[in-house]
Amino acid sequence: MSNQACGMMADVFQQSVEYPFSTLHFGNDADRQFQAIVAIHSTALGPALGGCRLVRYTSTNAALTDVLRLAKGMTYKAAFHHLPFGGGKAVIIAPEKIRDRRDLMNAYGDFIDSLGGMFITAVDSGTGPDDMDIVAKRTKHVVCASKQFSGTGDPSPHTAKGVLRGIQAASKYLFKSDQMEGIHVLIQGVGHVGIQLVSLLKTLGAKVSVSDVNQQSIKTCQDRFEVSVVEPEEVYSTPCDVFSPCALGQIINASTAKQLKAKIVAGSANNQLLDGSYGELLRKLGILYAPDYVINSGGLLQIAYRNDQQLMAREIDRLYERLITIFEQSSRQGVSTNVIANQMAEDFLRESKLKHPLPAVHA
Ligand code: NAD
Repeated sequence: MSNQACGMMADVFQQSVEYPFSTLHFGNDADRQFQAIVAIHSTALGPALGGCRLVRYTSTNAALTDVLRLAKGMTYKAAFHHLPFGGGKAVIIAPEKIRDRRDLMNAYGDFIDSLGGMFITAVDSGTGPDDMDIVAKRTKHVVCASKQFSGTGDPSPHTAKGVLRGIQAASKYLFKSDQMEGIHVLIQGVGHVGIQLVSLLKTLGAKVSVSDVNQQSIKTCQDRFEVSVVEPEEVYSTPCDVFSPCALGQIINASTAKQLKAKIVAGSANNQLLDGSYGELLRKLGILYAPDYVINSGGLLQIAYRNDQQLMAREIDRLYERLITIFEQSSRQGVSTNVIANQMAEDFLRESKLKHPLPAVHA
């Protein structure tokens, strides 16, 4: 083993102190430009389910950190909602230029199939239902493919609905009203989820500002909706009622938190806090934080309840109520909202028993 490889292995176990994992799986196929990592955090409640990111990373270690953090978040997200899934995540390290996307997704499908059902893949940043249609031809351990492949389709509209209800819950708690009319929401990232959120908020009369590093995403948004545009470097310091991170993780840190003019942080991005302690910083700054894996769980609920409209509506309403509970407990106990959410998920993980039966997610 080369020195570099030895260093990498040492890093894996060093990182596991902060981001524990159960197993790690590496996929590699140079002919198909395929390099991927699947991290399984826990299968205590069922097979690990999580999205697949197709992203360019600065290093393999950066990809590893991302996948480990995301996998843990999925365990907590499923446990928070008492769903029969464990937590896992996949990242495909995107090459500089993808030669043949079908080839790449075929390789990914083969990789997922080789894990024998321990991990069920869904979509995340950089992948969509079209990709999962390709994957579905190679493995049955996939959701989010189109109906033609018995998939659940795109989770993003449902994620956006959950985020909207989360923003409303935070507004209700803080402003004593969940009406969105006149509320100014600044959305960072108008990709799959962000643009759906713009649409929902505009329908309810909110004032919406958007920011994105991709000019095409901004243009698509402006073509459809009346929105103000904020430059990416001004996104934290721009006054608004609600700051909604719908792009990247780890964006709330010592510098950005202090720039924030918003009263509420509530968005879809996974791992918004650089680490858990920044939830406490937000609390001390008087900013109400809707914990990421709670507010962004609409897509997971859609997958778990297989598009059953009635069950999903019930669960999204529960999401609203449970966020209010989190805010109340945070205030009563004087601890951050992310700590309260973690306690709720960990309590359920400890009990490890399901409160309500669910249809099987896949055959
Ligand atoms: P996406 O890739 O479709 O969109 C992300 C958008 O953010 C893109 O338009 C991108 O250009 C923009 N962006 C990237 N860096 C930025 C920056 N520095 N400043 C501003 N904009 C930036 O991803 P998505 O599916 O919409 O997901 C967004 C976030 O929500 C991700 O963190 C994802 O993990 C999380 N999430 C998504 C879902 C879902 O159903 N899609 C579910 C749960 C969580």
